[in-house]
Amino acid sequence: MGVVPKTPEELQIMRRAGEILQRTQEAMKAELHPGVTLKEINAIAEDTIRSHGAKPGFLGYQGFPASICGMINSEVVHGIPGGQKLRRGDLVSIDCGVIWKELFSDAAFSLVIGGGEAHPAREKFQQTVRQALLAGCDAARVGNHLSDIGHAIEQAVRRGGYSVCKEYTGHGLGYEMHEDPHVFNYGSRGQGMLLIEGMTIAIEPIIASGNPKCRILSDGWTVVTADGKDACQWEHCGVVTPDGLEIFA
Ligand code: MG
Ligand code: MG
Repeated sequence: MGVVPKTPEELQIMRRAGEILQRTQEAMKAELHPGVTLKEINAIAEDTIRSHGAKPGFLGYQGFPASICGMINSEVVHGIPGGQKLRRGDLVSIDCGVIWKELFSDAAFSLVIGGGEAHPAREKFQQTVRQALLAGCDAARVGNHLSDIGHAIEQAVRRGGYSVCKEYTGHGLGYEMHEDPHVFNYGSRGQGMLLIEGMTIAIEPIIASGNPKCRILSDGWTVVTADGKDACQWEHCGVVTPDGLEIFA
């Protein structure tokens, strides 16, 4: 399936899916303190999504058992929220999706439990990944090439001394959570398709603080860094415009 730009009506629905996801992120952030478990955060997410009359985008997706992916420290992506109590200084990334009237939103944030001062090195890492994401969103403008997004992300990540986990990418989204095209987090300028008006994508740098080599745990889902060092994910979804990505969530 090729890239299908969304209609103004579809974009309005996706904006609403994004708003509900933003409310859900706020509800989770309010409870992300030492002692809480990701299982509890998952319950907050699911309750918040359903209270808006929407559906969790992740629950049951390819058999995934929860409404969020939650990653602690060396976990990279696809973490199943569990019963481990979070500690001050832990680096946590939370990825979540919402379905509103059949259309998806998908976004992730990262933070240090107890605040940035609880672990300045992890705070610098997650802020760098966030800045890389914003650089990627800025490059997501009509007339740019797809690879300009990945180029911007990779440059920002490298400047910080970190590495892109290249097997994980952003993506188109709409009636499916993952639509064409892949949105890579690396590349040289001016490659791939031209970005067009109405194209809806998720941009998601997935970054290692050390070596980017990853492995999957025996639960079949959770990806961790092979060297045990920290990883971080940030993600926005939205629509390509002449001024960069209009961020839905
Ligand atoms: Mg996501
Ligand atoms: Mg995504």
